[in-house]
Amino acid sequence: PEQPLPYFLEKSAKEFPDREAVHFMGKRITYRQLLDEVYRMARALKSIGVQRGERVSIMMPNSPQSVIAYYAVLMIGGIVVNTNPMYKERELEHQLQDSGAETILCLDLVYPQVEKVRPKTDLKRILVTGIQDYLPFPKNMLYPLKLKKDGVKPDITVGDGVYSLTKLLKEASSQPVKFEIVSMDDVALLQYTGGTTGLAKGAMLTHRNIVVNVVQCNTWLHKPEQGKEKMLGLVPFFHVYGMTVVMNFAVYKAATMILLPRFNVEDTLKAIHKERPTLFPGAPTMYVALVNHPLTAKYDLSSIEACISGSAPLPLNVQEKFEELTGGRLVEGYGLTESSPVTHANPIWGKRKNGSIGLPWPGTDCRIVDPESGEELEIGETGLLQVRGPQVMKGYWNREEETAKTLQDDWLNTGDIAKMDSEGYFYIMDRQKDMIIAGGFNIYPREVEEVLYDHLKVQEAAVIGVPDSYRGETVKAFIVPKPGEEITEAEMNTYCREKLANYKVPRIYEFREELPKSSVGKILRRVLVEEEKKKRQ
Ligand code: ATP
Repeated sequence: PEQPLPYFLEKSAKEFPDREAVHFMGKRITYRQLLDEVYRMARALKSIGVQRGERVSIMMPNSPQSVIAYYAVLMIGGIVVNTNPMYKERELEHQLQDSGAETILCLDLVYPQVEKVRPKTDLKRILVTGIQDYLPFPKNMLYPLKLKKDGVKPDITVGDGVYSLTKLLKEASSQPVKFEIVSMDDVALLQYTGGTTGLAKGAMLTHRNIVVNVVQCNTWLHKPEQGKEKMLGLVPFFHVYGMTVVMNFAVYKAATMILLPRFNVEDTLKAIHKERPTLFPGAPTMYVALVNHPLTAKYDLSSIEACISGSAPLPLNVQEKFEELTGGRLVEGYGLTESSPVTHANPIWGKRKNGSIGLPWPGTDCRIVDPESGEELEIGETGLLQVRGPQVMKGYWNREEETAKTLQDDWLNTGDIAKMDSEGYFYIMDRQKDMIIAGGFNIYPREVEEVLYDHLKVQEAAVIGVPDSYRGETVKAFIVPKPGEEITEAEMNTYCREKLANYKVPRIYEFREELPKSSVGKILRRVLVEEEKKKRQ
């Protein structure tokens, strides 16, 4: 795979010009059209002075514009800074300052926020687009970015560095553009880590990193034919998971991407029923919501063949139920921002193991080390997981110290506690920093959560440690009951006492309607910890 990312778009457009590339709420764009738009966008960016090596922020939900902008920035040798459109001012300011982005492409709805932080950043150019520029947005659609109460769009005056993206595109030609990428080791992205641990850092991912990970995805899928698949694009493309495993992988396979700008169970069911996707990369919370929804049985989900679930552990009963519903395979994988992201997955068609993240991907070395001494541990022993491979980042942007701590002799320290069995399958026990120490005992929240998930009335669960004057820390469980169910503390307590050693049993319960989640739907324990801290102040 010695070609940079946009090459694969050109290739797919050449081989499958009329195949649908993007399907977005009724609007369809072919590969030929997509490539033309990308050329146009690349020329538009050049025309306003965007240079090779510059960081360009893309702050959009999954949409035709987000795909077009991404490939256009790469084509002219720019570095994409994926920016979550739901960021608040503080997070946006940090990311723009840290990356030094001079250009941002954003939706009209978030423009006021961008304008507010602009004086504190290096921003010179703001390119604004409306989601409506590509289609009339259905009024009843739950839009991820809150419209002002009266539904009025913000006032945007073009000039002073503010551009209408649509106008720029209209003026640009769709003649092919020569790539300004010099080497496969050019940085393609500053991909900010999810930030579940403090201030977000920009992982420098190169063209090689991402292309390699896409090729590894293809090996895993084991379906050599091009131009056949249809992929459900629910995980956001501004997150490393959606970017690689959906967007770039789809383009590589000349697959159709069926985009929804935000995950919503009913819209997802309808999209599967109508558009018949074959592949559905997602996060556990998505599959959890789908299998538990009362309307699921009404829809035909039989087109689904293969799904990879990443970002957090996948509960076994959810996997089983989902496979029953669809007739497809759902397997667990694992990765992190710093490794583009995937490093492990269970084979789809081969032997998979429950509760395991599967086998390392081709070309990926893994080892388990003692967290204190750094010494390599034996098979079956639990320690820190480290990975090395061509998908591992170059380092963190402008953070030498952090880079040196995380990358040692090319080994990436994942911060996850894991073990490997004698057949080479890996198991994530927990995250190093989430471990709870209660009365001298180490407790991994994940183990307790798994027990909670097995309870018939539990839809979602999260476990954290809270300060305790006697034991240092004590276990607190947050539980979301399944729709229509009620759970009592006494009931949970009896249940947990049967399944867990005494010291692991939650001492405090809180029942909620929902839990805080990241953009890919990962439950954020850190937010719960923060909430607890605030309560105690
Ligand atoms: P930060 O790295 O700043 O804490 P984040 O957790 O959102 O933020 P990501 O790079 O998106 O950053 O997530 C990577 C982490 O997700 C892994 O280190 C691991 O803890 C967790 N993870 C991913 N897949 C799985 C899985 N299948 N099982 C358990 N944990 C997983």
